[in-house]
Amino acid sequence: MEDDNCPPRSALYAFPPIGVGTADVESLTSYFCRLAVAHCVSSTDLLHRISKTCGWSAPPKNFWKDVNLGGMGDVAERYACALSAMTSVERLDLLTLRPWRNVIAKSSKAPATTRWCAACFEEDLVQGGMPYFRLAWDVGDIDVCAKHGTRLPDACSDCGRTGARNNAACVVPGWCCYCGAPLGRVQEAHASASAAETWKAAQVGQLLAAQASIISAPDRGAMMERVRKLIDQLDDGMSARFARRIGSNKSTVHYWFKQGVPTLAAHLRIASQTGVSLLALLTGCVDGEIPCLRETPSLAELFPDYKKRASPRRSDSSHVEEQMDELHQSDDAVSVSDASRRLNVHRRRLYRLDNAKAHIIGAKWLEQQRHRSEQHRLEAARAIEAAVADILSSGKAPNLREVQQLVSREVLGGVRGLFAMIQEASAKIEESKSATLP
Ligand SMILES: [Zn+2]
Ligand SMILES: [Zn+2]
Repeated sequence: MEDDNCPPRSALYAFPPIGVGTADVESLTSYFCRLAVAHCVSSTDLLHRISKTCGWSAPPKNFWKDVNLGGMGDVAERYACALSAMTSVERLDLLTLRPWRNVIAKSSKAPATTRWCAACFEEDLVQGGMPYFRLAWDVGDIDVCAKHGTRLPDACSDCGRTGARNNAACVVPGWCCYCGAPLGRVQEAHASASAAETWKAAQVGQLLAAQASIISAPDRGAMMERVRKLIDQLDDGMSARFARRIGSNKSTVHYWFKQGVPTLAAHLRIASQTGVSLLALLTGCVDGEIPCLRETPSLAELFPDYKKRASPRRSDSSHVEEQMDELHQSDDAVSVSDASRRLNVHRRRLYRLDNAKAHIIGAKWLEQQRHRSEQHRLEAARAIEAAVADILSSGKAPNLREVQQLVSREVLGGVRGLFAMIQEASAKIEESKSATLP
């Protein structure tokens, strides 16, 4: 007898992905890491298992650094198919940017490091779910969370290391993969985003929300036809004038019409300067709508470094050096990555301009992180001692589970050697008890 309620057998758990059809859709990287956690194996073990099952060569050593599972490339397609086959969960390509491969250039900016939104992680925990990585965090042109209006950090606030999100063999989404500290702690330093950055993130969010409902991958020809219409409507059919409008070269626009595909940044420039939404531009879902130029940010707001690239300003150096001086003398420690973002120059340029000062800025940050982590440990030790005293007075034996019930995860997170700390606290209390006995 056939049982219709029985799901098909699969090699891996049929794990439902999170947020499909919303701007908060999960990335394939996240799905992969959660799947490994669910099977109690490391991400590396799961990678090897998939490679073996599919007959692929072993994955490269720096897999997580070199490969973007959520991108538009073929590797995203391969892994989405393999995981779909092994979990029997269909359309895992919806956790990647593959649906846009025909209309967005694959050379679009990729994020230099893995980022996250602490407020999103925090929300996941409050709602009782498992934290997960959003696909939007892996879109290189987006630096902010559209929902919370904050910049996406890329370094753990406890140990200061980048790549803390998923750059290791064992990944538990939401916790630093080096020191184990929760990444969902909202820091004041997570600067709020500008209106232009939030606009970009919201436009991309619309795409991600829509990708589950588009039937076939949008077509390049139809997209370029819409660009042609915009040029006719707004610039009397003159592509050179249109190129100026969107801050591009006219040869670039010509190239698109011949064979090329605009990058995501170019699409955002077109959308912002024509008043058509990014989604409408790529899918034509509101074709025929009259473009509206109200409430879209200017090019300079959207791409502050774009202008700079067009006319490099070498004389900036003294200004940057002055600001480096300020950072170097200030009590407020920042990482070199953060400093480079604040001063709007590449990290490498900071080192080139003043190697010693850049090193001091970095060392000050590391020292502050070390101090914070020490403070964190002291705070945990005090809390553990109080908890152990409570447990002993109630006649129970202090162990990790009992302590975890009394001390919050915030306080214990990221602290190494908890067992030893509990034993130490017990011994100390017993000792002081025997000393006070007559
Ligand atoms: Zn967020
Ligand atoms: Zn850390």
